[in-house]
Amino acid sequence: MSEKIQAIRGMHDILPDMTPRWQHVEHQIRSVMACYGYREIRLPIVEKTELFKRSIGEVTDIVEKEMYVFEDRNGDSLTLRPEGTAGCLRACLEHGLLHNQTHRLWYAGPMFRHERPQKGRYRQFHQIGVEVFGMPGPDIDAELIFLSRRLWQRLGVTHKLRLELNSLGTPDERLAYRQILVDYLRENYDALDADSMRRLETNPLRILDSKNPEMKDLLAGAPVLADHLGEVSRTHFEGLTALLDAAEIPYAINPRLVRGLDYYCNTVFEWVTDELGTQGTVCAGGRYDGLVAQLGGRESSAIGFALGLERLIELTGEAAPDTAPHIYFIGVGPAAERRSAVLAETLRDAFPSLRLVVNCGGGSFKNQFKRADKSEAAFALILGEDEMRDDSVSLKPLRSDGAQQTVAQADLVRLIQSCVHI
Ligand code: ATP
Ligand code: MG
Repeated sequence: MSEKIQAIRGMHDILPDMTPRWQHVEHQIRSVMACYGYREIRLPIVEKTELFKRSIGEVTDIVEKEMYVFEDRNGDSLTLRPEGTAGCLRACLEHGLLHNQTHRLWYAGPMFRHERPQKGRYRQFHQIGVEVFGMPGPDIDAELIFLSRRLWQRLGVTHKLRLELNSLGTPDERLAYRQILVDYLRENYDALDADSMRRLETNPLRILDSKNPEMKDLLAGAPVLADHLGEVSRTHFEGLTALLDAAEIPYAINPRLVRGLDYYCNTVFEWVTDELGTQGTVCAGGRYDGLVAQLGGRESSAIGFALGLERLIELTGEAAPDTAPHIYFIGVGPAAERRSAVLAETLRDAFPSLRLVVNCGGGSFKNQFKRADKSEAAFALILGEDEMRDDSVSLKPLRSDGAQQTVAQADLVRLIQSCVHI
């Protein structure tokens, strides 16, 4: 026997036992997006490498070390998308969707990052992304938070998540603050870890995001960006918090929340949980007004978030809708097999949501009955020798004590109507 080929580390199959949980969450997402008037956009999984370098930023974790980059047969450098914002914006610019227009968009799909795989951190993972273009005010910032919170409510996880907010101000304000932060960190250079020493030159704000506990005290004493915001940025942020207060949505302002990507400005936020260990951020986003121009468009407002489906599904726990069949159809012998296939189609015509599994591949009555039980169906529908002889059919409950009923085949639809809860 030849050696079995295995999946790539950090890239997981989602097996049929798990897919009902995914479908349930995806269904709620679709429904909530529709509630708020967000429209779905579908995007390629592969883009030119240049797109991510220009949007995410050269000195971010993603671009420096996490991207799957490969050369196409004709020599172009392509990348498996590590996130969705860049591709979404590229598509909108390419199709002229941003000329004096507003858009509320969402997308779903796999993302790829070459990270160290662990619980809640994979190399292929799935995100739902939301992007809104052309709306500069804090009202839309708040709407994204209302929308995400409604999703948590639908999934019963609101109590497991808390909202953290910060403002990164304008690029100019950030630049001025960056110098103040660098001065502070230089004064404490010996207390920095190797990663932070490197970032001091390239991306000092990211040091605030360090997960190294030995850096905690040093960072607690660092100057705070919020103290260096200008009037306009402050007013924007106050506009957002006023809306959240009015809607009675609890939040915490976290001055150390800077987000990993370069393109954010003003509002940034994260929904975090304590129930998933260190992989506690389920949903993260913010405003990225500068990015549209950076990718060759006209200056335009933009805000979005991305949520990690694996982490969200883990948080929802075991709850999943019942997907077991209502009925398993047993037909003993060739004539009964043919008859059951035809009757099954009649039932599917009559009950479009009926989950009906027809036994295929023959087998004795005992054998088929075992399969019916294993399928977790609520009922077995039986065409045995007796039934075939007098054109009847029997319905036997498999998960309750009710008695078996036998009716004429012509009355089957009526019997199912009255007995099976579809
Ligand atoms: P983290 O700090 O956990 O690395 P991030 O800041 O890199 O997250 P984003 O790029 O903002 O994450 O992506 C948004 C969300 O996508 C995250 O909050 C998380 O839920 C999910 N996510 C990101 N990377 C992964 C991954 N490697 N595996 C699973 N989910 C992920
Ligand atoms: Mg990351």
